[in-house]
Amino acid sequence: DLQEIPPEVAKQARVLYFNYPNNPTAAVAPRSFFEEVVAFAHRYELILVHDLCYAELAFDGYRPTSLLQIPGAKDLAVEFHTLSKTYNMAGWRVGFVVGNRQIIQSLRTLKTNLDYGIFGALQKAAETALALPESYLQQVQERYRRRRDYLISRLAELGWQIEPPRATMYLWIPTPRAADGTPEGSTEFALRVLESTGVVVTPGNAFGEGGEGYVRISLIADCERLGQAIDRWAEAGIRYC
Ligand SMILES: *Cc1c(COP(=O)(O)O)cnc(C)c1O
Repeated sequence: DLQEIPPEVAKQARVLYFNYPNNPTAAVAPRSFFEEVVAFAHRYELILVHDLCYAELAFDGYRPTSLLQIPGAKDLAVEFHTLSKTYNMAGWRVGFVVGNRQIIQSLRTLKTNLDYGIFGALQKAAETALALPESYLQQVQERYRRRRDYLISRLAELGWQIEPPRATMYLWIPTPRAADGTPEGSTEFALRVLESTGVVVTPGNAFGEGGEGYVRISLIADCERLGQAIDRWAEAGIRYC
């Protein structure tokens, strides 16, 4: 919420960094939000950095917004993309940045003092990946959509009512509530699940205090494996209530 940023803080800031579709919450932002961010950055002379790593991992016809679609963004913004998610190349360190020429030139100057280009064979593999047809992207989207819907239906059996996220490879679910409505702590719930079922979920508070009362479940396992995890939760009495 940009209105929550005190003007004296905004005046001292140099960079505004943001990420939609978001990890860990799987939230998406409307185009109007991107327009507000661009206006805000112009007002306070900020550099905008948008992390669009889930550009292609969207479902049900939703197309994530690129910051560079917004008029005026290119005056002060860059956007980062990675091959880690879409092309299952996590750890290969291949990505790219697009946007404002001057900002990219500064990044280039910095990077040439920090590291070198990556191993040529990985760059060749990345080139091949980027040239894959649209049908490849549809396959990837379909794979995650299927897992999302499957896990949501299985969690519903245990009491969780989850709105299907329109992008990313995560479910962001609330921890169980006590009778008085108090949420179980993220860490407590994650440990309870781990110790009683051997299943790892990421406590939301690991991402900041705003994540307290939530955990993130990733969809990187196939439906069969996800199903086994939920079977164990059912056996161990892990439920949302
Ligand atoms: C996975 C992810 C990345 C990817 O980072 P790489 O270093 O390119 O693997 C970047 N940002 C977010 C929010 C992510 O979830």
